[in-house]
Amino acid sequence: LISVRGLVKSFKGMRALDGVDADIARGEVLVVIGPSGSGKSTFIRCLNGLEMPTDGRIEVDGAPVQTRSNRDWRRARQRIGMVFQDYSLFPHMTVLRNICLAPQRAGVATAAQAEETAIRLLRRVGLAHKADSYPVELSGGQQQRVAIVRALAMKPDAILFDEPTSALDPETVGEVLAVMRELAREGMTMVVVTHEMGFAREVADRVMFMDRGRIVETGTPAQVFGSPAEPRTREFLDMIL
Ligand code: ATP
Ligand code: MG
Repeated sequence: LISVRGLVKSFKGMRALDGVDADIARGEVLVVIGPSGSGKSTFIRCLNGLEMPTDGRIEVDGAPVQTRSNRDWRRARQRIGMVFQDYSLFPHMTVLRNICLAPQRAGVATAAQAEETAIRLLRRVGLAHKADSYPVELSGGQQQRVAIVRALAMKPDAILFDEPTSALDPETVGEVLAVMRELAREGMTMVVVTHEMGFAREVADRVMFMDRGRIVETGTPAQVFGSPAEPRTREFLDMIL
């Protein structure tokens, strides 16, 4: 579904991504791990066009994400949802408005359809009763579940998660991971940057370890956690586990 070739991203001459190749199949869950500053966020921000690569090529279903055509770029972005560490909900809008805004703007749904979908998705994550609340009235875990619903409302081909539980209180981490686990089981294509190794072990089809803008190794959770091929992977795992 997503193909990445020779991806390079430089910030003022510093290579945040230094030649990354990756393929993400439809329905696959790829967990990305690595030390701070290794380029994990930059990688997934490039995947949905939030960041313009310095070099290389990214395609979603054969269509380039980075293109000079504004219309193609918007279409590519619509196909890839994103969930951030800090939820990034619009504070001045109700939960329902937050979810319906993008589908309506993009012409993916009429107002009535968008609301119907939003309510259905909210019910699935146990938050239908919060539709008219404002983000500030929700717990972190609730806000993050709304952010996931907002991404889903666009009917994306894939969803990217950048440390979705890092800002949460320990007791609410589980409710967000449960929603993600459910999505994975339903076959959603997901790229997840996380430090939740339990989730990675259990849910990931593949784990990718990054360091200094490069992919050091990729494998099944059993391979990467059980018998990492590279010393740097081992060092990192020893440090965090
Ligand atoms: P963390 O685990 O701390 O979130 P990360 O693996 O997500 O780290 P990135 O955020 O991708 O790392 O950053 C990779 C490198 O690129 C870092 O050295 C960072 O300082 C640099 N970088 C990222 N974004 C920018 C930017 N907008 N301008 C300048 N440098 C940046
Ligand atoms: Mg990051």
